Amino acid sequence: MSVARRCFALALLCMSVGLGLAPTSMAQSSTGNACVMDFFATAPAPTSSLLAPADVEELISKVADSLGLNTTVTIVPCSFGDKVEAMYSNGAKNAQGGYIRGPEGDYIIYNPIWFREVVGQDYAQTVAVFAHELAHLLNRDFVAPRVNLPRKTKELEADRFAGCAVAKMKVSLASYESLLSRIRPDLSGSYPSKDESIAAARKAYTDCGGAFEAAPDPMRAIAALDLISARDWSIGDGNEILRRVKDATDIQSLYKAAETDARAQLVLAQYYWAPGQIITEAEAFDLLEKSAAAGNARAMNFLGVLYENRRTIADCSRAFSYLEKASKKKNGWGQYNFGMIYIKAPKNNGSNGGGIQFILPSGQCIGGVSYNYRKGINLLKKAAKQGHVEAANFLITMGEDW
Ligand SMILES: [Zn+2]
Repeated sequence: MSVARRCFALALLCMSVGLGLAPTSMAQSSTGNACVMDFFATAPAPTSSLLAPADVEELISKVADSLGLNTTVTIVPCSFGDKVEAMYSNGAKNAQGGYIRGPEGDYIIYNPIWFREVVGQDYAQTVAVFAHELAHLLNRDFVAPRVNLPRKTKELEADRFAGCAVAKMKVSLASYESLLSRIRPDLSGSYPSKDESIAAARKAYTDCGGAFEAAPDPMRAIAALDLISARDWSIGDGNEILRRVKDATDIQSLYKAAETDARAQLVLAQYYWAPGQIITEAEAFDLLEKSAAAGNARAMNFLGVLYENRRTIADCSRAFSYLEKASKKKNGWGQYNFGMIYIKAPKNNGSNGGGIQFILPSGQCIGGVSYNYRKGINLLKKAAKQGHVEAANFLITMGEDW
């Protein structure tokens, strides 16, 4: 089916609809208009790590192909644009002969920064976002007669279209649902609620032949955790852990396992730092606290480092306490990080009346301990004996044996 611009002659006004959370009216988006005008006035700056327009173009043509459609859309990256939106211009000109909304055609305008913050590198969510906007264009939502339909109707139809695209593109429905649960409101208003959108997306996904992921199975997640628990992971290893977990289980199973399993809580918490960010910072801390309370030494170490980086007095105190606990549990990173506190602490603190201090003038968190080189080195030796590479390297630099 070819998508003709069959409605432009009927166009009274070009309307624009964003995927955004804020339930704005169906009035024209002046920002979108400004983005298109700016796009034609200046060459777009290279966007480096941000999603490039050429990639969006390629993605949209893949989505359209998967659904047997042809389409021509101009992709407009716009750093001052509002999230992502579709726009149609009938090519009308003003009295001076300039375009009012840009040359006649379909546009998808996206803010690459918003995109990185909300969607990150998640391919399924990228597919869903642009399929949703494509639906507004294909449905001719901006011209009569559909321009007069309630916004909610048009949004649900676009969510459904995206659900079908997710099925045809064989990407994760769960990931699309996670996006909807973040960007849609709890309650239905001018926009559909998250429940309504998710129901629409699921129905379309099934109708378009999408296979549902297997039912959540906490045992599958726990088996996956067994696979990855052999090594002493550090914070920077998050993506590698997640990759391994992803190969062996699915996120729903992991959520289920995290209701009771301390390792699942630790791993799920890492998703806060992963692309797509399916859990919030507060949830991540909550999961880590639960995991630590259940005796997971890695969670204790992880929390210690996170609190250390927050650098308020209360946080430094928590950091000290968690690292001490992790160290007592013989966690290699815990021993290393706890030992480093003693080595980093100022020499004139404590014994000569400096009092207990949690933060150095430099802003470094030292958890309220006095300098104690020997004690620090002994902790690092314990870590090195367990094969902790960073501890071993530090000891070699300092000329210490273990
Ligand atoms: Zn929309």
